[in-house]
Amino acid sequence: TQLIKPRIRELLSRELPPELVRMIPKHWVRIGDVLILPLRPELEPYRHRIAEVYARVLGVKTVLKKGKIGGEFRETNYEVLYGKDTVTVHVENGVRYKLDVARVMFSPANVKERVRMAGVARPGELVVDMFAGVGHLSLPMAVHGKARVIAIEKSPYTFRFLVENIELNRVQDRMTAYNIDNRDFPGEDVADRVLMGYVVRTHEFIPKALSIAKDGAIIHYHNTVPERLMPEEPFETFRRTAEEHGYRVEKLNELVIKRYAPGVWHVVDDIRVFKR
Ligand code: SAM
Repeated sequence: TQLIKPRIRELLSRELPPELVRMIPKHWVRIGDVLILPLRPELEPYRHRIAEVYARVLGVKTVLKKGKIGGEFRETNYEVLYGKDTVTVHVENGVRYKLDVARVMFSPANVKERVRMAGVARPGELVVDMFAGVGHLSLPMAVHGKARVIAIEKSPYTFRFLVENIELNRVQDRMTAYNIDNRDFPGEDVADRVLMGYVVRTHEFIPKALSIAKDGAIIHYHNTVPERLMPEEPFETFRRTAEEHGYRVEKLNELVIKRYAPGVWHVVDDIRVFKR
């Protein structure tokens, strides 16, 4: 980036007014060969030309405008500024993730958690991933941890990539995917480890996670928490809900993953659960 930024600036300063050149993005996210650019509203009239320059200099095939992630399926709906093909294969930590960057979220800020999950999984243990996405967190567990994985993804569109990624990473022998709502998953008392990689409403799924978990299993419980409720939350809600359902809990670890919104943090708790 030391040489890239001056080059981009030089090319765009030939076409944009100087006050706008100062506003061109200094940071971007690259997923495979697709770029996500945050763009100030003032730059809108020039967005296609700006995107083309970034694409040329950075050598990517497609450039998207960063937007909001929302809804039950956590879908992005990013405008295509340059290029056509928004499907790419992103390689991270030896794991291949194929996805449509314009529609499926892939957060660079969650990289530490994807790498951490690769290290916690144990060969042969059964992991149930309740919110699999394209295999964000559970592919590394199957690839590096040699764990057996049941990956559940409700969105039919995202599910297609999950299935492809299982093949792409050659873990068909130990990873199976289901295109269902995780509340309809019939397995009870089966998992050594349960992944709850979701935000905002994850607490609604605690009873289901408990029923999937074996006695002594570990649940990786993600949620978003307003800063004023920390450090008690999110563990307090998990503990209360678990006890109401007849479980005992032990908090093993807590990590802050990223700032989610002003005054709101994305946190993960590793929690061991025991049937009473
Ligand atoms: N766990 C990944 C990570 O941390 O990067 C991201 C997965 S994404 C945030 C959550 C996924 O859960 C989405 O793909 C969404 O479609 C899926 N999902 C939401 N509600 C679900 C449900 N009730 N059952 C199964 N999947 C669900």
